[in-house]
Amino acid sequence: MAKVIDSKIPAGPVPEKWKEYKAHQRLVNPKNKLKLDVIVVGTGLAGASAAASLGEMGFNVINLCIQDSPRRAHSIAAQGGINAAKCYQNDGDSVYRLFYDTVKGGDYRAREANVYRLAEVSNNIIDQCVAQGVPFAREYGGMLANRSFGGAQVSRTFYAKGQTGQQLLLGAYSSLSCQVQAGKVKLYTRYEMEDVVIVDGRARGIIAKDLCTGKLVRFSANAVVIATGGYGNTYFLSTNAMGCNCTAAVQCYRKGAYFANPSYVQIHPTCIPVHGDKQSKLTLMSESLRNDGRIWVPKKLEDAKALQAGTKQGWEIPEEDRDYYLERRYPAFGNLVPRDVASRAAKERCDKGFGVNNTGLAVFLDFSESINRLGIDIIMQRYGNLFEMYEEITDVFPGDVANEINGVKYYKPMMIYPAIHYTMGGIWVDYELQTSIPGLFAIGECNFSDHGANRLGASALMQGLADGYFVLPYTIQNYLADQAVWPKVSTDLPEFAEAEKKVDAELDRLLNIKGKRSVDSIHKELGHIMWEYVGMGRTAEGLKTGLKKMHELEKEFDTNLFVPGTKEGLNIELDKAIHLRDFFTMGQLVAFDALSRNESCGGHFREEYQTEEGEAKRDDENYFYVGCWEYKGKGNEPELIKEPLEYEAIKVQTRNYKN
Ligand SMILES: Cc1cc2nc3c(=O)[nH]c(=O)nc-3n(C[C@H](O)[C@H](O)[C@H](O)COP(=O)(O)OP(=O)(O)OC[C@H]3O[C@@H](n4cnc5c(N)ncnc54)[C@H](O)[C@@H]3O)c2cc1C
Repeated sequence: MAKVIDSKIPAGPVPEKWKEYKAHQRLVNPKNKLKLDVIVVGTGLAGASAAASLGEMGFNVINLCIQDSPRRAHSIAAQGGINAAKCYQNDGDSVYRLFYDTVKGGDYRAREANVYRLAEVSNNIIDQCVAQGVPFAREYGGMLANRSFGGAQVSRTFYAKGQTGQQLLLGAYSSLSCQVQAGKVKLYTRYEMEDVVIVDGRARGIIAKDLCTGKLVRFSANAVVIATGGYGNTYFLSTNAMGCNCTAAVQCYRKGAYFANPSYVQIHPTCIPVHGDKQSKLTLMSESLRNDGRIWVPKKLEDAKALQAGTKQGWEIPEEDRDYYLERRYPAFGNLVPRDVASRAAKERCDKGFGVNNTGLAVFLDFSESINRLGIDIIMQRYGNLFEMYEEITDVFPGDVANEINGVKYYKPMMIYPAIHYTMGGIWVDYELQTSIPGLFAIGECNFSDHGANRLGASALMQGLADGYFVLPYTIQNYLADQAVWPKVSTDLPEFAEAEKKVDAELDRLLNIKGKRSVDSIHKELGHIMWEYVGMGRTAEGLKTGLKKMHELEKEFDTNLFVPGTKEGLNIELDKAIHLRDFFTMGQLVAFDALSRNESCGGHFREEYQTEEGEAKRDDENYFYVGCWEYKGKGNEPELIKEPLEYEAIKVQTRNYKN
């Protein structure tokens, strides 16, 4: 019988307690004399917004990141937009509707109350960012513009061309810089957290590595917040920035923080297909393109074969021979079905032989209809930089006219295929965003909190900024209010010395293996195993094989790794080796969770559990819970702990995007 935990709050969409948190805003402010220190690890949208807000509220913040500037955090990659329930389009949107769409999009596996709170603060985020000067796109009359993202029938996505993440991060960075200038935030760039230090059962500090000098540094504080992003790079090839890693989260997990729903991994339908085995990165083509782009493959197998052989081009295939399969299968949402649904539909077509590139693993994303309807100028205003990015990588410009059939102009379509993109799973947190280790908080993509089994497009930025600007700064005060009487602990405590010694010993261990294989060659192999056995379609048998292979490869890593150089000074290979050590732990965790969840839901698709039409088949009777995992040592199976889900405001039903 698995252990059971709860999220410490009554279920239901508007917990009364949430109103109380708002009152706490007065507890700590710049005028009071409390000296409370908080470490915030990460300067992505979640970390930068949290550090800036905590600084503004009067806390002393230590803020770290691995890049040379907070402005280079992975969050700048976000292209498409950020959701909010402003209803500027007067199309029937509301806080409740955003809440409902998010719970439904997550295939009824999210915590209801968290999602309601997220929807509730979504509008504040837009106001906050506009006040910071974020240049959101505007309509001719001056109103903020919106576009649509998957899983919604309203237009609620705010955007800044195809650079929304970058602009939002510049906004957060300006607030952060203000607090740095005011002396409330001390920024440490090119520092990597290697371990969390637990004193008397509470998180009291971290061990970080100065990535330039190689020196280990101890930091102590009254609370620790990690905002270190997701674990998508476990799969080696993903749309994530190359530096994304899960080391901080995995170390917290090893120290006792539960890891929730690791198998919920998002595979994004619109990425540039893999084109060879020398690649180390995949590129996302924003979901916003599905507003005006139509996804299709040929209706006839012989056309698909000709496309694969290169004897025919997409623009030579007339309208009547095209299968707009999303519009056919899901008439109500069409090309704007959620990502998990769109990805599986693409895989289904390609598995049946209808893929359109030389590997047979691609579908078309075509703008001919929208360019003919709206004109190239409008389309370029909306997606210009994405078209240019696609051209830079593939040498094809999707705005180039290529053919005319019966008076209809056909433009060169993009080719796209699903790729690993986002991780819904993460460190388990309660309603206050506190992990199972008191004093340790997790925000942004590195926690599991709001997206259930599938995140809707443009909701990650919303969650990261909700956590950073509007949730954590209030909820952390419940913890810190008790801590006010406790002095900050000294970094001379034996717990710090012990943690530092272990980190140092790990660095020596990795350097002294002195085998023959590079970090990347092993990481690439791990990625193949993950994609093959723990990827888009999973089976019990495949998952067991995947676990076995990961285990064998981890042995290879432990005995045949070669890391050049020393631990003194900059050593990028050594840093990557640490990340890979943790990707192994993570990969196995994803597989364990996937194996234990005998159902399909959202991004977790077990081939044994599907409807006749190939849709995900949930099992609410047995799996209506958050699956949390407790670490039990290297090589041992972690223990499953369940947080049962309770829904009060929303009826749990089968997702329907057809009508
Ligand atoms: C190509 C792409 C496009 C996207 N587009 C959108 C979009 O349009 N809309 C949307 O809502 N979402 C989008 N997403 C998702 C979204 O960008 C991310 O989920 C979000 O930015 C994550 O923010 P974060 O602050 O949680 O983490 P990150 O931005 O990943 O930041 C992590 C931070 O932690 C630091 N860090 C990591 N490990 C350590 C360590 N051990 N020690 C110290 N520091 C550490 C890093 O330096 C960094 O500062 C997109 C994602 C990708 C990949």
